[in-house]
Order: sequence, then structure tokens, then C-alpha cells
Amino acid sequence: MRSSLTRKITLSMVALAVGGIVLAAVLINLALTFNFTRYLGKVQEEQNRLILDTLAELYSRSTSWQAVRLSTMYVGSTTGTQIKVYDLRGRLIVDSLTGMMGMHGGRWQRQEQRGNAAAYPLYVQGEQVGMVEIVHLGRQGLWSAEALLFRRTVLTSAIVTGLAAIVAAACFGSKLARRLTGRLTVLAAAAEKWGQGRFSSRVVVSGDDELAVLGETMNRMASRLEAQSDLRKKLTSDISHELRTPLSTIQSYLEAFRDGVLPPDEKHLAAVLEESGRLGSLITDLQRLADAEYSRRAAHFELLPLHSFLAAETERYRPLLERKDISLVLELPHEEVTVQADRGLLGQVLANLLMNAAKYTPAGGRVTISLTAAGGEAVIAVADTGSGIAPEHLPHIFERFYRADPSRARATGGSGIGLAIVRELTEAMHGRVTVESTPGKGSCFRLYLPL
Ligand code: ADP
Repeated sequence: MRSSLTRKITLSMVALAVGGIVLAAVLINLALTFNFTRYLGKVQEEQNRLILDTLAELYSRSTSWQAVRLSTMYVGSTTGTQIKVYDLRGRLIVDSLTGMMGMHGGRWQRQEQRGNAAAYPLYVQGEQVGMVEIVHLGRQGLWSAEALLFRRTVLTSAIVTGLAAIVAAACFGSKLARRLTGRLTVLAAAAEKWGQGRFSSRVVVSGDDELAVLGETMNRMASRLEAQSDLRKKLTSDISHELRTPLSTIQSYLEAFRDGVLPPDEKHLAAVLEESGRLGSLITDLQRLADAEYSRRAAHFELLPLHSFLAAETERYRPLLERKDISLVLELPHEEVTVQADRGLLGQVLANLLMNAAKYTPAGGRVTISLTAAGGEAVIAVADTGSGIAPEHLPHIFERFYRADPSRARATGGSGIGLAIVRELTEAMHGRVTVESTPGKGSCFRLYLPL
């Protein structure tokens, strides 16, 4: 892959250079031919006009062809032209090359390169006296030998420069490609390691281009994968630990019954039943957690007016709390607050928070649900006057299986999953959850949902 990418980039650079150079050569040639031809045409035209003026002058001096005959050869040889003069009846008066006067045309007569012939009427004092045909010798059309050489030199230099550019493009292209593929190979090697589950390795990011951004993104992805992998390992060990405790209790009871150490009476059987019940609720909690993780992907959002929603939820849980002699209060702002949320998920979040409040608040206590809206967020707070949570536990209580006080949680039947579900579901609705607590006074959980 590496060599093929290098070859592709190098070939593209060379192809670009060749294309650019061919285009430049064609354009230079066209521009040169066009402008130079125009310029040469103008110069020849001026020269022809001068020749015509000279011939007219010669004719007017004697009003006869005599002086013209005598001087045409001289004018022709000094200007490098063949001049033919005809009278009005079309008779050839003089040809500067053959010399009507029997003179030899010199080197111009042998000249093979001839320019275009141009014919002009010859006027003397406003009257036409004949025709003049002028041919520039030693030329190809308008092009003199010097002009042709100039054009060839320019084109040769363009081609030499072009070849040098192609070589430079090939060298530069392959160097650039090798650098690029070198960095891609490093990224590919890192991805390969991650594919094998070795998430601890990182890509060394250099520069600030797109590849560097890709490297940083891949590093971030590796960190997340590493965290996920650690979490999975921790979860597996947590689950096995959680299952082991009630299971080994049940096992020890059963062994004691078998060995006759304990009688399988009502009291002991009730203890076994309690442990198996704990196992059951743990499995139910695990299922709820898996469901919460699934809901995160399948949240169904709707515009949810919170006044009526919270009022209905309060009424639903009031009897449960009142049975424990805990009062439930709802505090709503005057204006309706509407959020984009999943009604079912928000209901589950509130249920978990209210169940906890009921669990950790003694009789005679109070639970308050309040709603506010600030900074583009709706804030639903569930505050209780319960036991509170010690500061050292606060940062961990949203973690799976974390219990602030395991011995008491055992008494309350909690497995430390309720708040993990709260956080999972709140984040599924693009919200967040926070907690504030004072031991002995109470706790306040706040849900922030985008408006
Ligand atoms: P559990 O099923 O054990 O209640 P949670 O995840 O719901 O698990 O809660 C984690 C821990 O946080 C609990 O064990 C408890 O110690 C503490 N906690 C949760 N809610 C409250 C509350 N309202 N008052 C005091 N402690 C709480």
C-alpha cells in the first residue's frame, strides 16, 4: 500500500509538471508567433513604404522610368528585397534581382528563402504611374533568420526549464509521498495494536496538519477504548463480586443444614430466602442497567411540558412516601417550562431519585421536587432531608455498584446501580446530573436538561 501511494503521488506530480510545461510551451509559442508576426509585418510595411517613397521621388525627378531603372537594383540590394516595377500597362520596367540593365542580382539572386510578395500602386504627385512588387529575401514569410533563431532559443529554454521542472517534481513528489506514507504507516501500526486490544499505546503526533489532527483524534479514541475496556473489566469483577456474596451466604446456610449445624427452621430459611431475593433483585438491576444503556441509543424525544409531567409524577409517588411518613412537595415556577426529552426515560430517572430519597430519609422527613429554568436549561431538583452522603463518597455515587455505606445499603437492599442508571438516562437526553449533600441534613440531586 505504501509503495503504491508513493508511486501514485509521484506520478501525479510528474503528470502535473508535464501537463503544465506542455501547456506553457504551446502558449509561449502561440504568443510569440502572434506578436512577433505582427511586429515583423509592421516593420516590413514601413520598409516597403520607404522603398515606394524613394521610387516615387526618383520618378518625379525626371518624370520618366530612367532614374527608377538605374537605382532600383541599388535600393533592392541595400534593403535585401526584390523590387519589380511595372508601368500602367503592366510591362515590367525593372526587376532589381535580374537587373533589366543586364546586371547580376548578386547573392540575393541565389537566395532561396523568400518572404511574401506585396504589390503597391506607385503614385507620383497624386497620380498612379505604375505598380511595384516587393519581396523580402532571406526570410520565411515574415520571419528573418534572426527572428527564427530567437524563437527557437526561447522554445529550447522553455523545454530545458520544463525538463528540469519535471525532474524536480519527481524528486519532490516522491520525497513528499514518502513522508506522508511514513506518517500513515505509524498511524496504521497504532490502529493495528488497538485492534489487538493493546489500547495503552499512543501515536506520536508531529506538525499541525490534517494527519496530526487524525493522530490526535485516534489517540482520543484509544483513550476512550482503554477506559471502556477498563470499565468492562471492572464491571465484570464487580458483578462477580456482587453475585458471590449472597451466593456464598446461601451456600453456607445449605451446608449448615446438610451437616446438621443449623436447623432449617423458619428463621434460617427466611435468611436464605432473603439472600436469594437479593440475588434476584441484583439480576433485575443488572437488566435495568443494560436496558438503560440500550435506551441511550433509542431515546425518543418529544416536546415535554414539565408542569403537568412533574405534577403527575408527584401524585404517582406521594402515597408511597406518605406511607413512610415522608411528605412530598412540588414547587413549580409561574411560567411553563418545556424540554426536548423522552417521557419514559425522564420518568425512570425521577422514579430512581424518589425511591432513593424515600430509602434514605427517615420518617417525618420531607422530599421536595422543584423546577427552574436558567441558562438555556431546565433544572429539576429532588431534595430530601435524609441521611446525606459523606463528601468522600460524593464523586463516586454515580458509578455502578458504588454504595456509600455498604452495610446500610445491604439493609436497604440497594445494589448501587440506581444512580448509574440515572446518569446513563440523563445523558441519553443530552442532559447531566449533579449532587450536593450534607451528612445528617440531606441531599439534593439536580437534573439539567436542554430547553
Ligand atoms: P442503591 O441501590 O444502593 O441505592 P444507588 O446507585 O441508587 O444505589 O445509590 C448509590 C449510593 O448513593 C447509595 O448506596 C447511597 O449510599 C447513596 N445515596 C443515593 N441516594 C441517596 C440519598 N437520597 N440520600 C443519601 N444517600 C444516597
